Amino acid sequence: MRKEYDKMDIGLLHLENKKVILKLIKHENEISRSAIAKKSGLTPPTITRIVNDLILNDKLVERLGLGDSSGGRPPLIVKFKNTSNHVIGIDLGATYIRGCLVDLNANFISEIQVPTELEKGFESIVEKIVAIVAKLRKRKGPDEKIWGIGIGVAGLVNSETGIIESSPDFGWSNIDLRKELDKRLDLPFFYDNSTRLMALGELKMGIRENQKNFVVINIGYGIASGIVAEGNLLKGYNGFAGEFGHISVDPDSDVQCKCGMYGCLEALASGHRIASLGIQELENNRSEMLKELSGGNKDLITAELVANAALKGDKTSLEIFDKIAEYLCKGIGVIANLLNPETVYIGGGISLNEGLLFKLIEEKKKKYLLQSNLKVQILPATHGDQATSIGAVALILNKIMNLELR
Ligand SMILES: [Zn+2]
Repeated sequence: MRKEYDKMDIGLLHLENKKVILKLIKHENEISRSAIAKKSGLTPPTITRIVNDLILNDKLVERLGLGDSSGGRPPLIVKFKNTSNHVIGIDLGATYIRGCLVDLNANFISEIQVPTELEKGFESIVEKIVAIVAKLRKRKGPDEKIWGIGIGVAGLVNSETGIIESSPDFGWSNIDLRKELDKRLDLPFFYDNSTRLMALGELKMGIRENQKNFVVINIGYGIASGIVAEGNLLKGYNGFAGEFGHISVDPDSDVQCKCGMYGCLEALASGHRIASLGIQELENNRSEMLKELSGGNKDLITAELVANAALKGDKTSLEIFDKIAEYLCKGIGVIANLLNPETVYIGGGISLNEGLLFKLIEEKKKKYLLQSNLKVQILPATHGDQATSIGAVALILNKIMNLELR
């Protein structure tokens, strides 16, 4: 019995040491074996064995040659092999499905975007994902490897079962996406809620390194958040943490949310709300600019169009954004006072409006933030409209670095 335990311990130890060395090589990009020894505290024979394993079997590391010697034997330099290793990221949204092929440094090799066409149903959406993956696979070189596919889904994803329990954007409830994709994809794939992946992308591939406490708010046709606390992505008991859109910001409101409650932030400040307020103003004949930009057609009024009108100085559209910013600040106040984040990132379609919303939020935030939290920075998400795709990539990259994929 004792011997078996020893064998198991050695296996685990090898795996843990391998993770340490791989992370070190990726972090440094190029490093000598002697520097690995210095930084990891591992012995030279262990390092040689593990580095060879990473070069020959995992193909995640390559030999770069000999470095400069300061007398004695010149050091052997190894490098993280990012360019011939790839990951596919998919952003499964209700308007578009976006797919990207990236290398392990998140450099984009290829991107595809197709309309989701919700009306064609679940089967058609699954087919589109499969077709995007097939096209992206053709764009890699013959000796290059795709490690896996990460997918961000707009909806409540149960992190244990993988069941999409509800997605108002898609009109889905209790959808087993895993079962359907399992039949059609022969690469490992993983998915999670799109906003949580935006937060993961920000954590692993954002411009600010070493941020351990921040929140990403995703404002599109709904509102959600991804929370990073003490360096960890918060999932909650069932994996549903971060439903920021359903905090009440106006208990007296008669606007009903998709969830059934009244006065939710999502019901009062999402892209959908901006568009519907724009339509109301058009119908009440209160904005010449909205009329001009839409040609009087209410079906053409989108949040983006109202933002454009506001940026051109339309008073009515500016009032709409002012109201939206007020509700968002109330929400941000709750989250900032509760969690004391370093940064609140805002992503999603709304964040792309040339700073209009950010300016309004800056003006209003002190009404809702404790003095001690006023230093919180409110910034656009690092990766703009690629934030979910990058997060989906980060999901797979994380698994590669933890040696969970082969
Ligand atoms: Zn709600």
